[in-house]
Amino acid sequence: MSPTPAQVAAPVMEVFASFQGEGLYVGQPQVFLRLAGCPLRCRWCDTPGSWATRMDRDARIDAPSGSLREPRVASPFQAALWVASVEPGEPRTVSVTGGEPLMWPEFIRALRSMVAPRRLHLETAGGHPEALARVLDRIDHVSLDLKLPADMGEPVELQSADGEPASIDEPAPATADDWRMARRRCLDLLQDRDACAKVVVSADRESRDYDELFEDVARRAPGLPVFIAPVTPIGGCVAPPLDQLIEVVEHARELDLDVRVLPQVHRAMGIA
Ligand code: SF4
Repeated sequence: MSPTPAQVAAPVMEVFASFQGEGLYVGQPQVFLRLAGCPLRCRWCDTPGSWATRMDRDARIDAPSGSLREPRVASPFQAALWVASVEPGEPRTVSVTGGEPLMWPEFIRALRSMVAPRRLHLETAGGHPEALARVLDRIDHVSLDLKLPADMGEPVELQSADGEPASIDEPAPATADDWRMARRRCLDLLQDRDACAKVVVSADRESRDYDELFEDVARRAPGLPVFIAPVTPIGGCVAPPLDQLIEVVEHARELDLDVRVLPQVHRAMGIA
């Protein structure tokens, strides 16, 4: 059965052109399509304004001619028009980010043909493998976060009123076991695909704490490039000292992983 228009719509927070600040395509000019809604609670979240869907709020469309405000709930067709309107030149790869964009898999699936021939990239926290499986054949690249359960607060499932787009009913991981299962299923899905993993490292974790993440990559998707991101100091998080970073990197290298250190470049540049 085809999804209804309400199932295909999603709350768009903002659409803007910038440079990719993380992962395998760092530095690439892209358009970012940020969807609202995230049930997760990462300690270092730099976009808490994206947690709630707030369907009555506006979307910010950052066109070269000026910033526009439009109703937030959008069809994939409307979102594709916004993408085209913010591009300062030739068409760019579109990076769907959030929030957790996998709250809206039918929107992402339908967006594919709307933004063609642009590439479509997905940035996900990796807590929703069923939704990831649903969109994977429509996505050119996946950037997957690998989270330490200890860095995650209690999830808060999204609510929507009658007549509003409803997010998926796949529950967010709530326990360390849930996270382990979700991580492994996501890694299985991304084996041998155009994808990368990101691990945020902070000073208040032991270097060995990250081993379980690396071991899962080594077993499930050994070719996946792994980017170590020193945490951007937010919400009391402290960036790791150099010796800790070296230890973490060497633990990953012991497992023969393709590992690189990359701070958030867009933060260093002071851009979105
Ligand atoms: S998944 Fe992203 S938006 Fe959600 S809490 Fe974590 S960092 Fe914030």
